[in-house]
Amino acid sequence: MTATGRQCGDCTLCCKVMAIEQLAKPANAWCAHCRPGRGCQIYPSRPAECRAFSCVWLVNELLEEHWKPSRSKLVLTTSDDGLEVRCDPGFPDAWRREPFRNELREWAISGEPLDMTVVVIVGQRMTLLTPEREFDLGVVGPDERIVRELEGTRVVNVTVAKASDLTP
Ligand code: SF4
Ligand code: SF4
Repeated sequence: MTATGRQCGDCTLCCKVMAIEQLAKPANAWCAHCRPGRGCQIYPSRPAECRAFSCVWLVNELLEEHWKPSRSKLVLTTSDDGLEVRCDPGFPDAWRREPFRNELREWAISGEPLDMTVVVIVGQRMTLLTPEREFDLGVVGPDERIVRELEGTRVVNVTVAKASDLTP
């Protein structure tokens, strides 16, 4: 049980969309230990990465009930830059449905002055949402980074660059 009182229940979507390094499990493929909709078959001995993971819906009641990943088909996590929204690859347009699309846009609006980003991930493709538009970034590899060009706090362009090419 979490502080929100929420439980995963019939949801197992993170066991599909998230990569688990300790299991060499790629993103967007069911974990071999998962019984979809039922739970983890190795729960008592699951890896530390799994133990440490909670999606935003589970721990933050600001995200209303309709965001439950098993219903919305969207798993929300936070990153250093802001919010990441992973779509169940079986429902690649889930984030475009309402009320999700509109709420994502509102977070992009409130996040921009705070330098917080909203990134939608469908398979390996990423889209950065800003108050004014969507930047389709295509496939972004694990060794690549999203680079925003800003005018004040407004995002005017977005590119993808190799992490090794960026100055620290
Ligand atoms: S996506 Fe969230 S609610 Fe669903 S199983 Fe994972 S942690 Fe639980
Ligand atoms: S080990 Fe269990 S908790 Fe971890 S991804 Fe696999 S099914 Fe999910």
